[in-house]
Amino acid sequence: MSTRSRGDHSRERRRSPLPPAPARPRERSIAVIGAGASGTLTAVNLLRRGRARVTLIDPKPHGPGVAYSTRDESHLLNVPAAAMSGLVDEPGDFLDWCRGLGMRVEPEDHLPRRLYGVYLRQLLVRFDDGWRLQQRRAQAVNVVEPLFHHGVRVTLADSSVVTADAAVLALGDPRPAKASRERVRVELGDGSAIDADADVLVNATGPSRKIGVGCNPLTQRLLASGRVRLDELGLGLATGPEGALIDLEGTLSDRCFKLGSPRRGESPESTAIPEIRQQAEDLARRLTEDGEVGRRGLRRRSATGGRGRVR
Ligand SMILES: Cc1cc2nc3c(=O)[nH]c(=O)nc-3n(C[C@H](O)[C@H](O)[C@H](O)COP(=O)(O)OP(=O)(O)OC[C@H]3O[C@@H](n4cnc5c(N)ncnc54)[C@H](O)[C@@H]3O)c2cc1C
Repeated sequence: MSTRSRGDHSRERRRSPLPPAPARPRERSIAVIGAGASGTLTAVNLLRRGRARVTLIDPKPHGPGVAYSTRDESHLLNVPAAAMSGLVDEPGDFLDWCRGLGMRVEPEDHLPRRLYGVYLRQLLVRFDDGWRLQQRRAQAVNVVEPLFHHGVRVTLADSSVVTADAAVLALGDPRPAKASRERVRVELGDGSAIDADADVLVNATGPSRKIGVGCNPLTQRLLASGRVRLDELGLGLATGPEGALIDLEGTLSDRCFKLGSPRRGESPESTAIPEIRQQAEDLARRLTEDGEVGRRGLRRRSATGGRGRVR
């Protein structure tokens, strides 16, 4: 005779597992905003993994970004050629590519930055299979994580919208892009002041610059809406593991990520290619690994991996 009560049966029914869903690899869609070295290397790593469709968004030519757009051959890389591969697992890739062009290059050579821009563009071409990569020459003006839907909506300057499972912000240095020639006044500690005409004021007093007025308009908008917040030092956006953005309430996003210079406040080494390519590979793995990214139902995680908030 069964001794189980009615309550036992209903508990069992609730516990009985659902038939397992058929395992099929789901292809992710990722919007990468900014196509300088950081965005380009993120797109390349996503495409290499073969499990993502990428929309790469930047009004400027995709690949070189600010540092490698120069046409002046006398502007040289400050890192030797042997350390400039864009691919973590193929450290000789840049060197091999140069030699493939017929150049006589030694590992310790400091090559023109312009050449590195061509290499970045060529990496995109190499891993573009013709349908996984979509390139949009446009400025992104907003990124929203809809509350009751999965993924992200990226609004472009022409009002069109790119939807994706997740977004990567690779917007570069948050500094105001242009300095105009103007009269500047430097006030000294003893109360006196120096007036001068200057194109650029060089501040060598340490890394005290804070993001604020003049930073990227998209970053300003996200800051104003509370969807992102500054790191402790005010030098970059606050991010958690793999660059997941943290909002004003301290919640870690599972669908908006950041890499490159704006993570400087948290990761001081995030501005040179060896660090950027590692961040790009780690993020591409995170975005394409099994498990959910940007899905409704996956609640946000704290920096320690549990669910909750980051303070
Ligand atoms: C002059 C200079 C020389 C350097 N030399 C070296 C070197 O030799 N070796 C080395 O390892 N590192 C070097 N670095 C450091 C590092 O490699 C670069 O800073 C790196 O290229 C940064 O790339 P990024 O993509 O993060 O930023 P960026 O190159 O600034 O690219 C950001 C991109 O985002 C786009 N963007 C911004 N906002 C939006 C928006 N709202 N919508 C769409 N697109 C947007 C911009 O148009 C831009 O193309 C150098 C840096 C500089 C400044």
